Amino acid sequence: MRRSYIAGNWKMNKTVKEAVTLATELKEAGSSKNKIMIAPPFTALSAVSEVLKGTEIILGAQNMAIAESGAHTGEISVLMLKDLNVDTVILGHSERRHIYGETDEVINKKINLALTHKLEVILCVGETLEERESGKAESVVTKQLVEGLKGVKSGNLPSITIAYEPVWAIGTGKTATPADANAIHKVIRKKITELYGEKEAEAIIIQYGGSVKPGNVTDLMAESDIDGALVGGAALKAETFIPIMNYNK
Ligand code: PEP
Repeated sequence: MRRSYIAGNWKMNKTVKEAVTLATELKEAGSSKNKIMIAPPFTALSAVSEVLKGTEIILGAQNMAIAESGAHTGEISVLMLKDLNVDTVILGHSERRHIYGETDEVINKKINLALTHKLEVILCVGETLEERESGKAESVVTKQLVEGLKGVKSGNLPSITIAYEPVWAIGTGKTATPADANAIHKVIRKKITELYGEKEAEAIIIQYGGSVKPGNVTDLMAESDIDGALVGGAALKAETFIPIMNYNK
C-alpha cells in the first residue's frame, strides 16, 4: 500500500516573512495521514527549516545546480541545500525545462548528484499541449522518465518520486481528467517495471500535478495509480493547501 505524498511548490513566491507565516499555519494544522513536503524559494529555506523543526513536514528545494561547487554564478548547490536541512529537491519541473532550457541530460546529472548526497528527488515529467494533441504524450513522458533515471540504481529508487505534470495543466486552471491522468501514470509504472522490476514499480510514488485544488483532489487521488499531488498555486495559501494535505482525513 503506497502512502499518499502531497507536495507544495511555492515557485518564485513569498518573502521570508510570508514564508514563515505560511509554514507556521501548515505546522499548526497538525499531522497528516499523508507524507507532506513544501518547497519554498531558496531565500526562505533557512527560516522555514526552523519553523518545521519537530514536525513531519519535509523541506524541499525547487531546483539545484549541476555541480557541487565552483564557477556557477547564481546557482545553489546540493551541499548548500544539505546545509539548510533540505531533504528533497524537485528536478525537471516544466518551468525549468521550458523557460530555462534544461535538457534530460542536465536533469539526469542533477538527479544522480542529489542521490549521491542522499537527497530525495521529485522528477517531473509531462507533455505540452501540442505534444498531447499530436498523440505524443506517452512517448514524451517515457523519454523524460528513461533519460532522467539513467544511472539510477534500483537501491536508490525509494528516494525517487515521479510527478506527472502535463504542461498544459500547470497554472492554467485546466486539470487532466482523473482517467486521463491515471492512464499516463500507468504508462509510467509500466516503464518502471521494465526498467527495475515489479516490486519497485508497485512501490514507487507517482504524483499528479496541474491545477490540483481542494475541489478536485479527492477524485484525482481515487485513481488506482495516482499516489499524491505536486501542487503549485493552491499551495500558496493555508486555506487551500490544508484541505489538499488532508483530503482523506
Ligand atoms: C506546479 O507548479 O508543479 C503545478 C502543478 O502548478 P499548479 O498547481 O499551479 O498548476
